[in-house]
Amino acid sequence: MTRRASPRVRARARLLRQLSTLSRLLRGSLFERFSTCTRRLCRCHQGRPHGPRTYLAVTSGKRQRQHYVPKSQRDAVREIARA
Ligand SMILES: [Zn+2]
Repeated sequence: MTRRASPRVRARARLLRQLSTLSRLLRGSLFERFSTCTRRLCRCHQGRPHGPRTYLAVTSGKRQRQHYVPKSQRDAVREIARA
C-alpha cells in the first residue's frame, strides 16, 4: 500500500465488514420438528412425539447450527430471520 486510506474510507470499510457479518447472522431459516425425549416410558415413544418445536437454522461457513426458539419468541425471530 503506497497511501494510507483516509479515516472516512476506513470507517466505510469497517461498516461494510460489520454489515456482512450481520447479514450472515440474520440469514437463518425457521423450521419445526417433533422430537422424542429420554424418558423411555413417555408418550413420545408411543407415536406421539413432542412438538412441533421451532428451531432456527443458521449457517456460518460450512457449519449449520440449530437453535431452539421458545414459543414466546417465535414471532420475533421469524420477523428477524426473514431473508
Ligand atoms: Zn417424551
